[in-house]
Amino acid sequence: MTEKMWVYKFEELDAAERYVGGKWDDIRGLFGGKGANLAEMIRIGVPVPPGFTVTTEACNGYLHAGGVFPGQMWEQVLEALKGVEQKTGKKFGDATCPLLVSCRSGAKFSMPGMMDTVLNIGLNDTTAAGMVELTGDARFVYDAYRRLIQMFGSVVMGIPDEKFEEVISAARLKAGVEHDTQLSAEHWLEMTQKFKTIFRSHTQVDFPQDPVEQLHMATEAVFKSWNGKRAIDYRNAANIAHDLGTAVNVQTMVFGNMGDDCATGVAMTRHGSNGEPGLEGDFLINAQGEDVVAGIRMTEDILEMSKSFPEAFKELEQIADKLEKHYHEMQDMEFTVEKGKLWMLQTRDGKRTAQAAVRIAVDMANEGLITKQGAVTRISPEQIDFFLHPQFAPQSLELARSEGRMVARGLNVSPGAASGFVVFTADLAESWSKEDGKKVIMVRPETKPDDVHGMLAAEGVLTSRGGRTSHAALVARQFGKPAVVGVQELEIDLIRREMQVGEELIREGDVISIDGNTGEVFLGELLKMIPDIKDPWLIDLLSWADEFRTLGVWANADYPDDAARAREYGAQGIGLCRSEHMFFETERLPLFQKMIMADLAVDQRDALNELLQFQREDFAGLFRVMDGLPVIVRLIDPPLHEFLPDFVELMLELSDMKLRIRDTATLSQIDELLGQIRVKERIRERAEKLREQNPMLGMRGVRLGIHIPDLTKMQVRAIFEAACQVTREGCTVLPKIMIPLVAHANELRVQRDSLEKEARLVMEEQQIEIEYKFGTMIELPRAALTADQIAEYAEFFSYGTNDLTQTTYGISRDDAESGFLVEYVHKGILPENPFATLDADGVGQLMAIGIKKGRKVRPDLECGICGEHGGDPQSIDLCHGMGLSYVSCSPFRVPIARLAAAHAALKDKS
Ligand code: ADP
Ligand code: MG
Ligand code: MG
Repeated sequence: MTEKMWVYKFEELDAAERYVGGKWDDIRGLFGGKGANLAEMIRIGVPVPPGFTVTTEACNGYLHAGGVFPGQMWEQVLEALKGVEQKTGKKFGDATCPLLVSCRSGAKFSMPGMMDTVLNIGLNDTTAAGMVELTGDARFVYDAYRRLIQMFGSVVMGIPDEKFEEVISAARLKAGVEHDTQLSAEHWLEMTQKFKTIFRSHTQVDFPQDPVEQLHMATEAVFKSWNGKRAIDYRNAANIAHDLGTAVNVQTMVFGNMGDDCATGVAMTRHGSNGEPGLEGDFLINAQGEDVVAGIRMTEDILEMSKSFPEAFKELEQIADKLEKHYHEMQDMEFTVEKGKLWMLQTRDGKRTAQAAVRIAVDMANEGLITKQGAVTRISPEQIDFFLHPQFAPQSLELARSEGRMVARGLNVSPGAASGFVVFTADLAESWSKEDGKKVIMVRPETKPDDVHGMLAAEGVLTSRGGRTSHAALVARQFGKPAVVGVQELEIDLIRREMQVGEELIREGDVISIDGNTGEVFLGELLKMIPDIKDPWLIDLLSWADEFRTLGVWANADYPDDAARAREYGAQGIGLCRSEHMFFETERLPLFQKMIMADLAVDQRDALNELLQFQREDFAGLFRVMDGLPVIVRLIDPPLHEFLPDFVELMLELSDMKLRIRDTATLSQIDELLGQIRVKERIRERAEKLREQNPMLGMRGVRLGIHIPDLTKMQVRAIFEAACQVTREGCTVLPKIMIPLVAHANELRVQRDSLEKEARLVMEEQQIEIEYKFGTMIELPRAALTADQIAEYAEFFSYGTNDLTQTTYGISRDDAESGFLVEYVHKGILPENPFATLDADGVGQLMAIGIKKGRKVRPDLECGICGEHGGDPQSIDLCHGMGLSYVSCSPFRVPIARLAAAHAALKDKS
């Protein structure tokens, strides 16, 4: 029986492959990423200093046994070391031609700086003297020797590194020099002695002179560092399993610090910040590896290396190319040049920004390194989101956090970064921004429809209440405004115009910053960077995504500007135009209120007629922009009281006005005031009448359309008059009328009957045939369950998953999201917020039933989704699986949805 291999020479990759069954992922598991890539580089002929890897299995064996090397591991290490001696012609511990090695940690997943590495193992008093003979460079040798004592001391023995650094600083001071490199051989020799003393005084033993003992202790230290606090914390944060273990890579030392014909550096095969082709990195002449990262000396740009080391630089470029061709990924490499000869010490997939990731994926596909499909799968939806909003520069974020300027955190409901002056009312937001050109952040406890003009004028929105689908969140996302909502630590005092956050008192006019990606709130301003949605690589990538996806991507847009943006971002239709949004605008709200308040039918008709003029123009604008693409207009949905002032506010105003009468001098003024009071009283009475216990389940949607038939008739007239007008202008108009909140098929039948009559009437008047459809929203469980009956009267379904989730769960989202829902998710009672990600088991099941039943009656039934979920990648995947025709989301999420839909289709295919 052959013995178990705990140790593999770098060139024994084949044996390891046989052992794990050939999978690269398992090789990385066994060798760690660093070891696997070192072995792989050797296999493809890249110059790597000889060495071997002690496996993660050995590490786990050691840790399980409570600190004993397993089986024949150590014997195998010594055997492998002999192999390295033969390869290099050097001998470990030999006085004339000593072999030095590094002992490097390396786990399956990169854990930068979390575990330990010791360099220059094998140096002792004798070998150091031998190396001075050999190299004639005492300065180099004693610098290397003190580094060994220092690293070994701190890493293996736990001596605080400052103890050593203090000595170096003192030496620099005494010698009157600024940099370590200016210190002489004598200095380093002297410090080596001092380091030995430090070592002894801290550990009560001498620095081990036996190289084998050094290696033994260093190997143990690397194994143990797997369970160091740093490493454990990092794994918890990065979601890496704790039972993987680290490998140990023992590798022949090469020296970048033997003179000016030596160097060391790190380089990426392409730019990590923007993805440009060509090497990006730093190097240092006459230095050892860790100096580059440590920032002791100013590094030089890697491109400078073409001047100082033309040969080595050319080779580095060729290796970069070779590695990319081999790994099909951008690489992050460590290298050292020893006496002009280039050695590679590490390679791994390079970290990059979202912008760089997109460019690199597209470039690599164009270069034939990967397929288009590979490029599309490689990019995540979050990376696309990056392009759509200004972001805080990462350094600026770090700085602000470290300075303690991050004062609160809420829900990150609309991405992007914003800084500006705090304002507490919509009107002030508008006037400061429009008249004074100031950037403002609108801060409210929560927002209402009549705050929208302020939100539009603001850079960003911050609220102390509300959840992911609160008014503030929805509107902010709709308009691409960064927003943070539900920041419970904010105590807003609207009267004094200030807010308290912990210790901080923030007044109106103070500057704050909000990060809609993280939900953080900062004092003061942060630096921003603006990514570009017109990025040519992004455009290519998304067009490839379009080739793969089968799900349509539409947008929710109420105004022509939004529709135009949606179209620019690639939307194939409008899946939801909320027709009542227009009623909230300044000139129209009074008209709408007049309509609600009218006691006489004729007054109501007058008001509706005036509204008709406005609505027709609204729809005409939308149809023009969407020329040739379908537009779904949802008829009025919200309960009427939303259009009236708040009941409590009305009461307060009234009592205030009544009090004012006493202080009013002239009779005519009193008369005027009384008149105003009478008007307000009427509004109050009506508002009181319209007050409902559960407005969400009350007089809204189709119920409203049946109750006030002329209202929805007016809307349909406006749609068809606009359609005829725009058709005459030469556009192709494809209107679809959507009736909301249907629970029973009869509701739809009745409403559709009367509305379709109106539509036909308009088309007759106008002498134009419009291609139209009537359909409904499926947003109540009963509708989903009786979808076959409903489909009799509906040519399309659109799942309104916001309401469907509310009514399926019996949860009012606005209340719940800032309340118990957070607790539920936190305690793991719900896996995630069902308003952010579709609840597959419940809501998803209802949707599937609805699709199945609906299509049984009407096989060509078009089914889409227009709830917030339509822009959520995980929900999009579910929608694809259910066989929906399209998803409709906010214009700003259209590019994300295009990619997510492609991912869903590709996943499905494989
Ligand atoms: P980390 O994972 O923290 O980067 P490494 O094991 O890569 O740790 O080693 C730290 C530094 O030492 C790196 O700059 C690396 O290039 C350098 N280094 C490691 N082994 C050798 C070696 N055999 N010869 C020269 N430099 C080395
Ligand atoms: Mg390390
Ligand atoms: Mg490294």
